[in-house]
Amino acid sequence: MVDLKSCTLEEITDLMRSMGESSFRGKQVFTWLHKGVRSFDEMSNLSKTLRGKLTETCQLTPPTVARKQVSQLDGTIKYLWELSDGNCIETVLMRYHHGNTVCISSQVGCRMGCAFCASTIAGKVRDLTPAEMLDQVLFTQIDSGVEISNIVLMGIGEPTDNLDHVLRFLELVNHPDGLNIGMRHISLSTCGVIPGIRRLADLGLQLTLSVSLHAPDRETRDRIMPVNRAYDVDDLFAACHDYFKKTGRRISFEYAMIDGVNDHDWQADLIAKKLRGMPGHVNLIPLNDVVESPFKPSKRIAEFQKRLESHGLTATVRRSLGGDIDASCGQLRRKAMQEKGEIAGC
Ligand code: SAH
Repeated sequence: MVDLKSCTLEEITDLMRSMGESSFRGKQVFTWLHKGVRSFDEMSNLSKTLRGKLTETCQLTPPTVARKQVSQLDGTIKYLWELSDGNCIETVLMRYHHGNTVCISSQVGCRMGCAFCASTIAGKVRDLTPAEMLDQVLFTQIDSGVEISNIVLMGIGEPTDNLDHVLRFLELVNHPDGLNIGMRHISLSTCGVIPGIRRLADLGLQLTLSVSLHAPDRETRDRIMPVNRAYDVDDLFAACHDYFKKTGRRISFEYAMIDGVNDHDWQADLIAKKLRGMPGHVNLIPLNDVVESPFKPSKRIAEFQKRLESHGLTATVRRSLGGDIDASCGQLRRKAMQEKGEIAGC
């Protein structure tokens, strides 16, 4: 079966031709798919015969809402979607002044093993298809009635560990006949997989790259992020400098503040030293307490921010949204898994 929604307009047009249809059918089908139809029968301007052929040879994999939590504090909505194979993923809709932002997942689970993160505890189950990433944006918009203007790839999974599908998703979501969300409205976050960063640099996309730094020194980063043993932090800084040189785009460094682990002044000084020559932005994240994790939130966020600023760096503290719901990555899926007594899926 062809996963039709993961196809480009050109591929769908070729398929229409191979079915003996005129090429303009390609655009009609593409437009329907990107409007969020759940079956080929809803494509009312296609002949019954063509709809039948598509149903026989192609598949659509729309998710269903398994759980939905709405924050009474700020309107943040968290979705737990059930995918067509029964696996579950999370999507969060956040309402910011600069636009409505959806945070999407790129994999079912994650194999990066960061010690403080709920998404990775049970490992990776599988990659998401481009269609499954697109559907998170589309069906969040349809279900909530909120128009989405920004996307962040910061949900469950490591985007660079599923980069081919992620790149295809970006092409689709950016398409003028689809949701038409501009690259400058999209952020992609990585835990520091250097080949992925280099590939993105070569492509020169206008998206914003976020790098989950969390520690500027090898010892600490090795301890909390196993990826550092494969891609050392000094090589990561070098790749970031190259990325900036190639793309001219400022990188955003994510930094979850962990009590007594990565919140020392010397670490702020080291960040400043390593970022010299590049207009970095450090985004300090109050650590979300994950039940299974030994780490506790830092009490030194303001001091650390000042220390970074004293070196001329831009440092912000992430405003926490959805404080009354399980809004941080991986927690809702994890809860659902535990309630069902399952290790993988949901
Ligand atoms: N795999 C990608 C994207 C998903 S995680 C990455 O690592 O960048 C999105 C962000 O949330 C990352 O910066 C991640 O390190 C951070 N994060 C994970 N668990 C967290 C926690 N308990 N508290 C605060 N931030 C956390």
